[in-house]
Parts: sequence; C-alpha cells; structure tokens
Amino acid sequence: MSCVNGAVLVLSGPSGAGKSSLINKIFDDLGNCYFSISTTTRPMRAGEEEGVHYHFVSEEEFKKDIEDDHFLEYALVHGNYYGTSIKPVKKALSEGKLVIFDIDVQGNTAVQNRLGDITTSVFITPPSLSELERRLRNRSTDEDEVIERRLKMARKEIQRVSEYEYLLINDDLDEAAAKLLMIAKTARLKKSNEEINEFVNQWEDL
Ligand code: 5GP
Repeated sequence: MSCVNGAVLVLSGPSGAGKSSLINKIFDDLGNCYFSISTTTRPMRAGEEEGVHYHFVSEEEFKKDIEDDHFLEYALVHGNYYGTSIKPVKKALSEGKLVIFDIDVQGNTAVQNRLGDITTSVFITPPSLSELERRLRNRSTDEDEVIERRLKMARKEIQRVSEYEYLLINDDLDEAAAKLLMIAKTARLKKSNEEINEFVNQWEDL
C-alpha cells in the first residue's frame, strides 16, 4: 500500500481500558490524524451513534464486504464481526495523516503484516483485572453475561501484550493521556521501507 508520509497507530486493550477516553483527551493535540471508524455487526449501545462510534451493519452486509475485499482486516470478537475498511485508510495515509485504529489483538497481527513498517502499536489496560471489572460494572451499559465474556477475553488478550511495542497502564487518565500523546507524536516519525529506500537511493547523488 502506498502511503506517502502517513503512519499508523494501533491501540488495543480490553473494552473498559479507557481507549476512547484517552483518544478523546489527546485528539485536539494530535493534529493531522484520522481515527478509523470500524464496521461491526454488534448491536448499538446506548449513547452510540451510527458513523461516529461504528458503522453498524447486518451480518449479511458484513459478509458481502468481506467477499468484495473491502477490509484491511476483520475479526470475530466476542461473537460479533468487526472490520476496518481499506478505502478511508488509504486516503488518510496518502494525505500524510496519522491513522489511529482501535482494534483487537487479531487486528494488530493483520495490520502488522500489511503495514508493519509504518505501524506503532500500544496495548492499553487498567492496572488489574479487578479494576477492569469495576470499570465495566460502573459503565453498566452491558448485561452481566456480556461483562463476564469481556473479562474472560481480557485474560486471554493480556497474554499477548508482548506483541506490542508499548504497554500503557491507564491508572491515572491525565498521566496516561500525556504518555499516549508522546507515543503518537513519535509514531508519526516512522518512515515506510519505500520512503527509506528512495532516500538512500538519492542520498549519494545529492
Ligand atoms: P467494543 O464492542 O467494546 O466496541 O469493541 C470490542 C473489541 O473489538 C475491542 O477490543 C476493539 O478494539 C475491537 N475492535 C473494534 N473495531 C475493530 C476492528 O475494526 N477490527 C478488529 N480486529 N477489532 C476491532
């Protein structure tokens, strides 16, 4: 994928880790960036809006998008499909933007395979499993059964933290946001293999 000067920031971590709050907090300071809005088959939660939090589609529509090769990556998470559409990502990268993904560990593997040279990855988590449970119960947008499933999933996901460049512990929101902003600013500095080769090739002749 040709990407001029764009770069990618992958954020993963259990639901309830505070990813959305962190992104909202640093968004204005980030400058030229694009937050990728995923497509999902999961039902809309109270307070969510179509086209803002996700594109909400039926399983049939999702499967059609898979067939038509519309996704950069997609995965089955907690029994629902989630996917990242290629088109807006390509556009944002060609405009030199920092593209931010909130995707799971499977999504990170896929993005690393396709865009690894320009990708920075961060795993965000509350300080402990019990704190995660407390936050999920306080949010109270989900049924008990859904919360149990998310906790089980979180136990599995934490085992894959080593696949990420950064582990960000979201204990104090302001502190974690300041750290994430530093990581995001550095993420922009990554150059694609293509850009590096081009630079090396012309460097001798300058
Ligand atoms: P939630 O249902 O809480 O919004 O998200 C559940 C999980 O799905 C989170 O871990 C989130 O990062 C992940 N997710 C959201 N969008 C995508 C996507 O497009 N691709 C993948 N692989 N995971 C996603």
